[in-house]
This record gives sequence, structure tokens and C-alpha cells, in this order.
Amino acid sequence: MAEPVFQPLPTVPDHPGLEEEILARWEAEGTFAKLRERNRGGPTFSFIDGPVTANKPMGVHTAWGRTLKDVFQRYKALRGFDERYQNGFDCQGLWIEVGVERELGLNSKREIEEFGLEEFARKCRDVVVRSSQRLTEDSKRLGQWMDWGNDYFTFSDTNIEYIWRFLRVVHDRGWLYLGHRSTEWCPRCGTSISAHELAGSYVDRADPSLYVRLPLKERRGESLLIWTTTPWTLPANVAAAVNPDAEYGLRSSGEWVAVARYPDDKFLDRKPGSDLVGWIYEGPFDDLSPGAAVEHRVIPWDEVALDEGSGIVHIAPGCGSEDFELSRLHGLPVLMPVDEAGRFYDDYGWLHGMSTAEAAEQIIGALEEKGRLLEAGLYEHRYPECWRCHTPLIFRIADDWFISVLDLRQPMRDANANVEWTPEYMGKRMDDWLVNMGDWNISRRRYYGLPLPFYPCACGHLNVIGSRAELEERALEGLDQLEELRRPWIDRVPVRCEECGEAVTRIAEVGDVWLDAGIVPFATLGWQNPTWIPEGYATGAARGLTHADLPDHAYWEKWFPADWVSEMREQIRLWFYSQLFMSVVLTGRAPFRQVLGYEKMLDEHGREMHGSHGNAIEATDAFNRMGADVMRWQFCAQPPDRNLLFGFGPAEQIKRELLTFWNSISFFVSYANIEDFRPSWSALEPRAELQPLDRWLLERTHAFVREAEAGYDSWMTVDVMRAYTEYVDDLSNWYIRRSRSRFWAGDLAALETLWYALVQTLRVMSPIMPFLTDHLWRNLVADGPESVHLAPWPEVPEPDEALLDEIADVRRVVTLAHQARATSGLKLRQPLRRLVVEGARGARAHADEIADEVRVKDVAFDRVEAELRVKPNLPVLGPRLGRELRAVQQALQSGDFEELEGGRFRAAGHELEPDEVLVERGGSDGFAIASADGVTVALELGLDDDLRLEGRGYDLIRQVNSLRKEQGLELTDRIVLTLPAAESELVERHGDWIRDEVLAVEIRLDGNLRIEKAGSGE
Ligand SMILES: [Zn+2]
Ligand SMILES: [Zn+2]
Repeated sequence: MAEPVFQPLPTVPDHPGLEEEILARWEAEGTFAKLRERNRGGPTFSFIDGPVTANKPMGVHTAWGRTLKDVFQRYKALRGFDERYQNGFDCQGLWIEVGVERELGLNSKREIEEFGLEEFARKCRDVVVRSSQRLTEDSKRLGQWMDWGNDYFTFSDTNIEYIWRFLRVVHDRGWLYLGHRSTEWCPRCGTSISAHELAGSYVDRADPSLYVRLPLKERRGESLLIWTTTPWTLPANVAAAVNPDAEYGLRSSGEWVAVARYPDDKFLDRKPGSDLVGWIYEGPFDDLSPGAAVEHRVIPWDEVALDEGSGIVHIAPGCGSEDFELSRLHGLPVLMPVDEAGRFYDDYGWLHGMSTAEAAEQIIGALEEKGRLLEAGLYEHRYPECWRCHTPLIFRIADDWFISVLDLRQPMRDANANVEWTPEYMGKRMDDWLVNMGDWNISRRRYYGLPLPFYPCACGHLNVIGSRAELEERALEGLDQLEELRRPWIDRVPVRCEECGEAVTRIAEVGDVWLDAGIVPFATLGWQNPTWIPEGYATGAARGLTHADLPDHAYWEKWFPADWVSEMREQIRLWFYSQLFMSVVLTGRAPFRQVLGYEKMLDEHGREMHGSHGNAIEATDAFNRMGADVMRWQFCAQPPDRNLLFGFGPAEQIKRELLTFWNSISFFVSYANIEDFRPSWSALEPRAELQPLDRWLLERTHAFVREAEAGYDSWMTVDVMRAYTEYVDDLSNWYIRRSRSRFWAGDLAALETLWYALVQTLRVMSPIMPFLTDHLWRNLVADGPESVHLAPWPEVPEPDEALLDEIADVRRVVTLAHQARATSGLKLRQPLRRLVVEGARGARAHADEIADEVRVKDVAFDRVEAELRVKPNLPVLGPRLGRELRAVQQALQSGDFEELEGGRFRAAGHELEPDEVLVERGGSDGFAIASADGVTVALELGLDDDLRLEGRGYDLIRQVNSLRKEQGLELTDRIVLTLPAAESELVERHGDWIRDEVLAVEIRLDGNLRIEKAGSGE
């Protein structure tokens, strides 16, 4: 035989192998560049990439987001859109710093300063350089097509300058202020943490639970009983709060408590809380000088809870935000017991230098010694920890810089209302966040971050520098050493106060990292840049890492706002929020039109993925063990409103599922090669005279293309995957199964139709499985575009729904008939007398096909006499109906229900969907019954001698065909079949049929079953 037209396929695809091969082809052929060139000047689709933190290799959760971005950019490219493909790296902030500290073995800010800020900054940059290269490699391996080498890096001076510009606008409008308030604080990182960084960081923790006596000064033998879970705050106690409207009682043991907390106790005295107000007590640690200086008294507070503790709350304004508010209201002193590193100041005597955790032990011991401790236990609760280093947070009073949201809340809500969110509820989450957001705490007491351009002057004026040019103009010295707009260099550049002319220095703080990412739609698109600057974005630390230009304002006009952005749900309060915030300040509108959000990734057993649990998966492992296409399938099959359970187990399942399509192509290749079939891209549609089944497959293919299109257009890859799975089932388990004999006979219409269907499927699925589809495309399409990614999206006519419904009915009947047969215990091969079908109107014209598929002599459309039993599907129905379930259950049991269209039922006033009920139909004797979705079939089970003999024929054909395979015969080889003499009746009645089915030129009846290749001699 001549060189085959198509490469024969191996039994299973080698995903990693073929992916590497395709990557090399794309590289060699410049496929992506050709695609972009083709779409240049087309309608625009503006995508803006949320930056990935450049501090480690890619994890599979990052691969999920990157896959979705790539899928939709590929889809839009197939449809001819001109797109931006700029990737982004997040390069500053605690993520980077904490990693470098670990690498260098530094444990505190003091150690960083001793190490030296210049060297520390260089080490941080090294991490970004290394991991951005690694992330780039991993992303390419994933198949993500981006403009690598033109990435944006948020530590570029340009990015920083754009944030300065934003902060200047904020200041000019009067929204910037220095707040003195109680804030969540990470003692290890030595900085405050802002609300949006906090939301996801609560963990279960057990803390001490202490009940402590505070003796009353003017009531001998009596004391207040307070409760706390943070012993370290007791040395900072200044007051005790009671609920003025609650009743308090004096227990016989001498403690005042809220009566509601101890309803069974006997009380010597009872008073309303308001009567306790003003009482003076001994502080828990008056032996330490800060406590000794305070007059501790009882204050009223409406918020004192009566559902836990003693009903009397210990107040330490230096250690809690509500406490701090109360101190303002009641003029209480504020004791700050711990420093930035969370260690006790030296005026706390024996506690000096201890961390809050170390102090807890000591404090409990001291209280016990003094006889102040009534009860000590453990308290389980949710407690926030630092999202970067996992240290439990404390409260401290700090001076932080804030942006007031008072004037911004409503404009931001209005802007968000114009954004289309998928899934929709995420837009509501964003609105909830905006309704509740506090002022934005933008300052961090750290090193490797955006330097806040604030220069407060002794004259009272706050200088806010809005650009590098302004800095240079006002600088008094230090410009020559200014390597980057960054600590420590920037700190050596004092400027002149614009009010009084004195020299002023910058505050030490750096900015919240979300400023870096939020400014991206402005900094990367050249918002207020008058002229285009080639490689103009590659400034400061980004120099040498990217070739990205700084475009001009016209470019910004063209690409802003983004048509689409996509990130995981937690970004609602992070990137989506900071971008929306900055965009509303600068332009009054949202920076994106549509958003695709998605939930969390867990491991395949539903547990959180963590390095420490040993269940985190690096993308590299997944590439090597499952391949990128299988990963992408797993990501795309996931509904975005549910957590993805990702792992190697599901990957194996996907590989098995993929084989249906793989085998269909393999089948086509085998028969097309036999016929030397040479289809042409220029004549894609079949030209031979089609049979009804071919026409159906064309319509079915058109319907699939349309369904996939709708899925892509609504950002729902899960809909595309569902459409694909159903389509491939129809293609393989109906069209190919029903057409086998035509392929054996080399039927041209069948080959053309199948080729068309396969080629269209490759085009539709190419955004999701870019490697496998291109690999197969290059095999199947000889004269078309060299890559499937260069073929445009298939344009197809409206499908013939009536025809599709008919065959859907046929397939439903066949499936039910197989189900019925399975319950009977009879083999699928055994021919039966009759099938009766009720419902499935569309199937009537296809009785012959059904008879053939189901292997019955006759198909009748008629009523099926069957007893109907319906039970509730409890796991589904229970949660929906709640208490009503019982009534429905009883109605179903007593047969008091009505059958509705489409497999639905009505019982006890409720309509029940097909998946909410379990339906059984008992038949009359001699029939097997099956039923679903309003269709019922009855299979007659009785056998006679004719049926048995025919069944024996099928058995034999199957046996012989597996012998052919075992003996390695080609599909076209003819054989001589030898059978035992006992089979003479079978050969006499069914000889011709058997000969055809097994390609036998002769059947001999003189020995045991065996086959020989015909013409191979005796
Ligand atoms: Zn921390
Ligand atoms: Zn001044």
C-alpha cells in the first residue's frame, strides 16, 4: 500500500509528548504571531490581565485562572478580534518580602535594617526576576498565548509614578488623611493589615479563656468578674464595661456578674448595670507602672453581650478597636503595652521584651498567685492571622494613612452596577463589600513597596508629590543616587515644602500592594501620556525585564475600559476592588465591562490545598503526569460557582472520556486510509449523496457549534464541555455505530460526513484543548491552514431542530430498551421478538433503526401496561421541600399523584422534576420495562428456536472477529472459517450473513473453530 493519507493513531494519546511537539511547532512556525497579524485592525476585544505574584513557580490554582483567560482570548481570536495579550507580574509587598526574609533567615524588621535596605531590595528583585522567568515557562507549557517579553511588572517606576498621580488626585480632593486608630497588626511583619486583606484569613484557634476578679475599692470583699481570651491585654486594662440596662447580681463568693449569665445562682444583692457605673476597682496589674497610674472604673456600654463571658467586659483601649472608640467617648487613658514587633515595652517590668504569646503564660501564673484567677480554660474561636506569614494578629494603635470612602461609596456602587458579572451573585458580593467598606488603609511599615510620596512639613502642610518630574524639580539633593523610586534611595531625597520652603523628608511608609495592581488599567495603557514611548514601561526595577512600551493617551482611549477580566472570587475585595476604586477616582467609571469570577480550588477529596498538608500540586507535576490539555479540560468542565476538586484521580477519568473522541478519529483514519480518501479543506462540506443519518450528523454538528458558541459567549466553559460530551456521544455511539457497515464498504458519503464532523469539532474545541486539537488537525487537514488556531471559527447554518428532536427521541428509546434488557439478564446480542414504545413521538418514523439497534423483530408504538411506582429522591427533594416532604412522600406512596409531561409528576400540590423522583415500572409477566422523561418501553422476553439460533449466530460472529484481531489480520483480509459439524443448521440457515460479517470466503464444517487467512495455502 502507498503511504497512508493519514497517520494511524496509537491506542491512547501521549499527552505530554504531543504537547511538547506542538509547542515546538508553534515556536518554529510563529503560529501566535500569524494569528495576531491576521486579526490586526479587526474589532477589538480588550482583556486586562490581573498580575500574578512573582514569588514562586506556578501552582495548579494559578493554572486554572490562566486557562480561562487563554480559552476566551483564543475564542475571541478565532472570531477575528484584535486583542491585547499583555501578561502582568506583581512584584512588591509582603509576599515578596516574607519570602526573601525566609531565604536570608531574617526574623524581624530590625534584622532587615541591619542587613541593609539596598541589598534587601536587590534580593527582592532577584526573586521577581527568577520566578517571573519560571512562571513564563510554566504558562507557555500550559499553552497560554501571551505577548511574553512585553509583560508589565508592578515595580516599574512608571507604575509607581501612576500611583503617585492617583494619590495626588486623592489628596487634592481632600480624601487623604492620617488616622490615629486601633488596627489589626501583624507583630512579625511589624505592620498594620487592612480590612480587605483580612476577610479570608480567619482560622480556628484555641485561646486561653480566663475569668478574673477585679476587687472593688470602696466595697470590701466584693469584686467585678471579667472574662478575656487575650491575657496579654490585661496589663493595659483601664476600665470595665457593664450593660446599663442589664441586671447584675452579687454572688455569695463576692463577685458581681450579669444575672442573665448565671440564672441558677443565688444572689446576695441585685442592681441594674447603671448603678455599677462609676465604681472604682483595682486593676489586674497595678504593680506595673502604667497600670498603677490609672484610675480604673466601671463604664456603661450598650454593646456588652449577655450571651458569653460574665456580662462585664474588660476594656484595654490600646489593644482593641471597640475599646479604643470607648476611650474617646469616656476620656479613658490609652495604654499601649507592645511595640511594632508585638513585644512589651520596658515600663511593663517583668513582662519587658516578651511577645504576646510568651506573656500569656506569665500573666496567667501571676493572676493565680494573687488569687485573682477564678477559672482558666480554653476557648475555641475563629481568629484572624496574617495572610502572608500566618502569625496571629493583634490590635495596636497606629498612625496610618487612609483614603476616605465617604464620597466614593455611591459612585463606586453605581459604576459596579454597570458591570456584568458571571456568576451574577459575585456582582452582589462586590456591592456588599462596597456598602460595608471602611476607609482604605493604604500605608504599610515595610520596605519593598511603592514609596508613598507624602512629605509632611513642620509648618503643617502636607506635600504630596504627583510625578517623577515634580520630584526632580523640588528635590534638594540625592537625585544622583536615585536608582529606583524605592526605599532606601527615595528616602535620601528631601524636597522643598511648597508652603514654607523648608526641607521636608518622606514618611517611611510604603503603600498597600493593591495600589500596585489597581493602577494597571492606567499605567500600562498610557492614560495621561502625551507621546508613545517605546519600551517606556521598562523603568526602575523593570528595566531589562520587559520591552513593554508606554503607549499614549489615544491608545488608552482605544483599550479602556477592559471588555473582560477574570480572577477568582477572593479578588472581589482585592484586585477588582482596588481597580474599581482607582478607576472611579480617576475617571468616574468602572475599569471593566464584564467579569468572570470563579470559586476556590480544593484537592480531589475536597480539602484545602496546602504545602503543609502535602496535597498542593505544582503545575509542572501536573504537566508531566496528566498533560496540559487534561488540566484544561478539568478547569473548563467546572461550573464557576462551585469549588473545583482538582487532582490526578479526576484526570484519569478525563483521559478515559477523551478516548471516545480519540477512537472516533482513529476509526476514521483506519477506513479513510483503506479507501485512500483525500478530503479537501476547500470543500469542507460533504459532496456525495447523503443518507438520512449523514444529514442528521450534519445538523447535529451545526447544533453543537451553536451550543458551544453560546457557552463561550456567556463565559461558561462548563456549557461548552457539556455540549461537547453530548455531541461526542452522539457521534460515536450513534453515527459511527450505526454506520459501521458503510465504512467497511468504503461509503464516500459516510467518510465525508464523518471527516466534516471531526474537523468542526477540532475547531470548536481548540480554545480548550489547544494541543490535542492542533495535533489532530495537522493529521486530518492536509490542505487547510497549517494550524487549527489559524482556521477561523466555523460559521454554520441554523440546525434543523425537528430532525434533531426525532433522533434524540430514537436514542432515548434505544437507551431505555437497553436498560430494560439489562434488568432481564439477557445478552445484548440475543435477538428478541418485540419492543413496545409509549411516548417518544419523534421516533415513530425510525422503527427500523430502533429494531436493528435493540435487536428485536418488531417495534410497536402503543400504550404500555405497566404499574407505576414513584418514590421521592430524598437527597435532592429533601433539602428543597423541608417539612413538606412528608406529605409528598405519603401521596406518592398511596398512588395519589399525577404524571406530567417530560417525566415530571405532581403530588400533594408540588411539581416534581425528573431528578427529584425515582420511577419504577413493573410490567406484566414476560416483559421488561424501563421508563424516563415521559417515555416507557416494554421489551418482550420470550424466546423461540429461531431467535435462539440467530443469537447463536451473533455469538459466533463475535467470536470469529476477536480471533481475527488476536491473529493480527488486517481489516480487509479474507478468511476461511472452520466450524464443528454440530453447527450445520446454523450454517445452513445463516451462512451468507455470517460469511459477510467475518469476511469469510468459505465455511468448512469439519473440525474445531478456527480461522485461516484465505489464499495462505493449506
Ligand atoms: Zn505577617
Ligand atoms: Zn512647610
